[in-house]
Amino acid sequence: MIEFHVITLFPAMFAALEHGLVGRARARGLITITTHDLREYGLGAYRQVDDTPYGGGSGMVMRPEPIAAALDAVRAGNRDLCALLMTPQGEPLTQTIVRELAGHHGLILIAGRYEGFDERVRSLVDREISIGDYVLSGGELPAMVVVEAVARLLPGVLGNPQSLTEESFADATLLEYPQYTRPEEFRGMRVPEVLLSGDHGRIRRWREEQARRRTATRRPDLSARREKS
Ligand code: SAM
Repeated sequence: MIEFHVITLFPAMFAALEHGLVGRARARGLITITTHDLREYGLGAYRQVDDTPYGGGSGMVMRPEPIAAALDAVRAGNRDLCALLMTPQGEPLTQTIVRELAGHHGLILIAGRYEGFDERVRSLVDREISIGDYVLSGGELPAMVVVEAVARLLPGVLGNPQSLTEESFADATLLEYPQYTRPEEFRGMRVPEVLLSGDHGRIRRWREEQARRRTATRRPDLSARREKS
């Protein structure tokens, strides 16, 4: 069981997490997801959460006080909550990090907007996470990515837990082998004979070899890491 808390200016976006695997995990009480509207912690009559950057420059920057107040409110009475700042400047998210995050009792995800956060916000969190080397206009989708990736590792969430040991990145350096289903032939492309053989030893060896080859051609960076380890 993990509790997810999301601090965001757009709580309604998280309706997406009412569906699919995550939606079912919530319904079964395996996870909870609570959104906290940052606007409620905004300053003054207009509930201001952003301001112009010192030194000039384009766009607005998120002020630290509303985020600090929201964090304090979420942390009050909650033990072992790991606070994550969603930012393209953070650690690139990997399956290894996802596994680490899944070990917490709860996660607080802070979604930014505008030109990002006042630098002092970084001192309030435990980790900074990026979902890749590109820039989105908000941290809501990155926060959902973290929720989905972490939730599916929790006991009982996946129908078949074996999927977790066989899929891409299960050992951090290998992509999954090619998968086939019916029909046996599609537009002239046949399912590899070995998969129809019923010989489980051959199938396992074929899959291991295919996973290695596929990783070497598509992700030589992962193969190099595998060879070193
Ligand atoms: N000016 C910032 C910079 O150059 O690093 C980018 C700000 S971005 C337009 C607004 C917000 O979207 C960020 O504060 C962050 O919360 C979120 N965001 C955008 N891209 C992201 C990424 N790749 N990973 C995680 N969060 C991201």
